[in-house]
Amino acid sequence: MLNIILFGPPGAGKGTQSKKLVAQYNLIHLSTGDLLHKEVMAKTELGLQARELMLAGKLVPDEIVIGMIDNRIKNSKNQAGFVFDGFPRNLKQAEALDNLFKINDLKIDKVIALEVGEAALIERILQRGKEQGRFDDQNETLVKNRVKLYFNDTGIVSQYYQTQGKFHSLNGLGEIETIFAQICKIIENR
Ligand code: AMP
Repeated sequence: MLNIILFGPPGAGKGTQSKKLVAQYNLIHLSTGDLLHKEVMAKTELGLQARELMLAGKLVPDEIVIGMIDNRIKNSKNQAGFVFDGFPRNLKQAEALDNLFKINDLKIDKVIALEVGEAALIERILQRGKEQGRFDDQNETLVKNRVKLYFNDTGIVSQYYQTQGKFHSLNGLGEIETIFAQICKIIENR
């Protein structure tokens, strides 16, 4: 099995690279952001609760996202592996994922971070907002706030995986194919 965490700020290209990893290694893509967006679009109770937090760029409660991941892992036995995108985002989630993996006798192979500076991220997210219409990608002030909150809160997760010797990072600015080739190289260097 191959289990990868794609790590990095909103707009770093995790979604794009996840899709390529799915095609290359036959993995299941688990994006908490995508799952939450679906709930918002479907106007479920959870979606209605999550929407305001997402707009403000704040994290949705840990129990909710951990529950989502737990369900997907339990219901996806005998797969080639997973690519996690946007999860974990804090230490509690990282520890919960380690526990879930232990219980299910799985292991995280690599954590690969896509590094992109704030200004480029904001530009990319607003562009994505125009092209894809995501409700939380529209307002410049809110987008700036979301990117700031990410850098304030999520850095500690990279340290967690550095300590485990699983953390790799690469420049997320560049050609999609070049970045993908670098990701594959890290994966195949197991
Ligand atoms: P993303 O598409 O990954 O940027 O996620 C969009 C929004 O969903 C984030 O700004 C958060 O409000 C929420 N979200 C996504 N993943 C998580 C997570 N792992 N923990 C808490 N909130 C999350």
